[in-house]
Amino acid sequence: MLQIGAQAAVVDPGDAGPVFDALAREPGLELAAILVTHHHGDHTGGVAALREATGAQVFGPATENIPQPFTPMRGGDHAQALGLRFEVIDVPGHTAGHIAYVLREPPAPLSHPLLFCGDTLFSGGCGRLFEGTPAQMLASLDALAALPDDTQVCCAHEYTLSNLRFALAVEPGNGALIDYERQCQALRAQGRPTLPAQLAMERRTNPFLRSREGTVIAAVQAHAPGVQSDDEVAVFAALRQWKNDFR
Ligand code: ZN
Repeated sequence: MLQIGAQAAVVDPGDAGPVFDALAREPGLELAAILVTHHHGDHTGGVAALREATGAQVFGPATENIPQPFTPMRGGDHAQALGLRFEVIDVPGHTAGHIAYVLREPPAPLSHPLLFCGDTLFSGGCGRLFEGTPAQMLASLDALAALPDDTQVCCAHEYTLSNLRFALAVEPGNGALIDYERQCQALRAQGRPTLPAQLAMERRTNPFLRSREGTVIAAVQAHAPGVQSDDEVAVFAALRQWKNDFR
């Protein structure tokens, strides 16, 4: 939940309960907006109940089937909520019409850009390709990776440790990755989240943002012989398939 004064917004409320609980803890707090990234039930399950109870404006991907009514958003649009402008980026791949929201200039006391990327980018990983192609997902991740270094990546799921186990299988010699995995282990051991993640750290550690690095290409080729090193989409596709099969 993003709170500005007496107004709040939520992103991808899969369940209305925790949002109602948060609103009940702060009498006078108004839920003004609900931002939806894609149509999956674990991101939309709470939308209807929250909108009916609060009258919040719902923003969602123009080409996906999410609970009506909502304000359709496409890449290049801006969702105006809480007096802020959330920039919309098209990030197809996990689903065909998936969008992400970026708050480039959040108000104090927040001091870093915020990215709400649904199931596109996770810390140490990326979403599965349910509807889109590897080429689409690679382009979507490129668009997110181009955001400022200090962008706080608000991922939709805490999958970090299991993702990093795979990342270490791909790049066992990546020192930044080894350090980051230790930090995340310590946080989880204390019951704390690893999120939001820092985009600069993701670029140094997340294999899906590093699929053009020589170390990653070599690891993919060792795992999937026949993949051409100069075919960046084939490398990315083989990396994603390796993760799908990884135990
Ligand atoms: Zn999803």
